[in-house]
Amino acid sequence: MLQAIEAARSPFTVEELLEALPHVGRATVFRTVKLLHELDLLCRVPLEDGSVRYQLSEGGHHHHLVCRSCGQFTEFSDLELDARIQEQARAHGFALEGHAVELYGVCRRCAAAAT
Ligand SMILES: [Zn+2]
Ligand SMILES: [Zn+2]
Ligand SMILES: [Zn+2]
Repeated sequence: MLQAIEAARSPFTVEELLEALPHVGRATVFRTVKLLHELDLLCRVPLEDGSVRYQLSEGGHHHHLVCRSCGQFTEFSDLELDARIQEQARAHGFALEGHAVELYGVCRRCAAAAT
């Protein structure tokens, strides 16, 4: 299954992974994807159309720049932003368990191709 994930060049949906792994049970695929995400090995990015795509992670906590044109995710981390998010949660008396930040737009490569 890891090989199928590594073979995926672009962000994939669980449905696409299921198609690539016809011999693996549905529940197993869902469970493994969830586990890999929890271990920070897989990025999980909700798209604006409501679907969710995954991509191998470079590891560690980070945020995403999501290209609307090619669909690629670019990872970035920002400790100051994380600190601000935690501050906001504290200020609201909110027990923060996690957060995700996704920026949607057009990546450098796609922007260059469009001009
Ligand atoms: Zn990521
Ligand atoms: Zn792009
Ligand atoms: Zn963060």
